[in-house]
Amino acid sequence: MQTNFLVIGSGISGLNFALHAANKGHVTVITKKKIAETNTNYAQGGIAAVLSKNDNPEKHIKDTLEAGDYHNNKKAVRFMVEKGPEAITRLVALGVEFEKEQDSSGKKNLKSPLSLTREGGHGNRRIAFVGDHTGLEIEQILVKRIKEHPNIEVLENTFAVDLIKRGNKIYGAKIITRKNRIDNVFADATILATGGAGQVFKYTTNPSIATGDGVAMAARAGAKLKDLEFIQFHPTALAKPTPRRLLLSEALRGEGARLYNSKGKRFTKELETRNKVAKALYEELKEGPVFLSISHRSAQFIRKRFPSIYKALRKHKFDLTKDQVPVTPVAHYTCGGVRTDLKGRTNLKNLYAFGEVTYTGVHGANRLASNSLLEAVVFSNQILENIKPLRKTHAFTFLHEKLNTSPELKKSAAQIRKQAQNIMWKHCGIVRTQDSLHQGITEMQNLRKELTKLNRTNISRDLYETKNIVETGLLILKAAKKRRKSLGCHFIE
Ligand SMILES: Cc1cc2nc3c(=O)[nH]c(=O)nc-3n(C[C@H](O)[C@H](O)[C@H](O)COP(=O)(O)OP(=O)(O)OC[C@H]3O[C@@H](n4cnc5c(N)ncnc54)[C@H](O)[C@@H]3O)c2cc1C
Repeated sequence: MQTNFLVIGSGISGLNFALHAANKGHVTVITKKKIAETNTNYAQGGIAAVLSKNDNPEKHIKDTLEAGDYHNNKKAVRFMVEKGPEAITRLVALGVEFEKEQDSSGKKNLKSPLSLTREGGHGNRRIAFVGDHTGLEIEQILVKRIKEHPNIEVLENTFAVDLIKRGNKIYGAKIITRKNRIDNVFADATILATGGAGQVFKYTTNPSIATGDGVAMAARAGAKLKDLEFIQFHPTALAKPTPRRLLLSEALRGEGARLYNSKGKRFTKELETRNKVAKALYEELKEGPVFLSISHRSAQFIRKRFPSIYKALRKHKFDLTKDQVPVTPVAHYTCGGVRTDLKGRTNLKNLYAFGEVTYTGVHGANRLASNSLLEAVVFSNQILENIKPLRKTHAFTFLHEKLNTSPELKKSAAQIRKQAQNIMWKHCGIVRTQDSLHQGITEMQNLRKELTKLNRTNISRDLYETKNIVETGLLILKAAKKRRKSLGCHFIE
């Protein structure tokens, strides 16, 4: 297969980039499940930008730097914040209908200002939203626009195994197709938009696609990575074991929800930055369960403002309008990743990266809430210039490798994956110690050896996802071990 732009990933960053790039050439988007199965699809709270008269870029920059413990790249933060309003305009132009304020006669119209909500660490109301399902709305609109575009081809259930590299150049990716064949896609530019790595941990808000594939692929190809130790744990996931933990959006606290300990006492400022609230919960949970409650607001407001969370909680027998809901911190966001410049360029020629898979420098040591959708749009709005068509070549095929879809291999891969997730939770969780990190590295290295034995003659999608979890986990552990002092969301005792 041959294309001008190969985009790996169909979340907000991949699809937004694809829509821009399609004006310059043929775009192939590959995505490992159905097109909409992305982290983007589950985003609840909204997208931050300076959108009101009471706000200004300096304030948003200040909040972003404070949340990031001043570990951010200031130039990148300014770049993102200043381009924030333009990113919202782009989404609105594509068709995203953010909530609006009513005018004095109680009506909403095209010119009505956007309603803005608040989340932890923001000094102002600056988050545009659609109910409590902002990501779903954005993803659906982007998918619609992508399907309308004649220059964009989408290959669902197609798994990128590795980048094709010769010298310092990337030529595309090796893939496993929907029909379980190994193939190559050659491209003039290859774009990693593979999202985060929440599934590297036992407990996470992330869906099953978030296995750190982009980071692992990039590392294997020799791309530079940065700040992987900064894993953000979201303080308020429902404390009930489900494969993907149900998130209770920070926007709930933005609209007044309170946290109570087992004695019924409030124990932290609810709108502190996420790392601080997560740490406070971590300590409090040693004494007993912690609860989130917004029952002091009217039932009508709660049902209208948080319809999806209300419905999802009903399935677990909780009524958000009345009940205190037990919560716990879980892995949520990968602040570091593949190092890029402001144009999404990596250190490898023809390889670009956008969205959660990247380290752009905007988040520092802890992401400010709702800055990630913003980062994804601002950076993927870049139009790549000077892409030179590569020479057509078939020299890099990998036809000697065999695909193995046997149930035994699937089972072994699943077992190793589970062990890796347990190691990460135990040794690289909310609070870390040097000894525990050391132990985690040893255990993960042993798992990698086990995998290599399985991997020698076989290749399968399950095996590669597990390999990516193990390799990304190991990179996170090693980065955490190197940082000997607490910073942002990396707490070390
Ligand atoms: C529950 C939840 C709530 C959130 N709420 C907010 C919020 O309110 N505001 C905010 O700013 N951020 C929020 N976030 C974070 C935000 O949603 C993500 O950071 C953002 O959507 C990432 O977009 P992306 O395009 O980088 O990746 P994603 O949307 O995750 O897309 C990744 C894509 O890559 C594909 N992929 C991965 N590996 C491979 C492979 N090997 N081969 C082929 N395809 C592959 C996946 O299938 C998927 O299509 C939330 C996240 C979660 C999980």
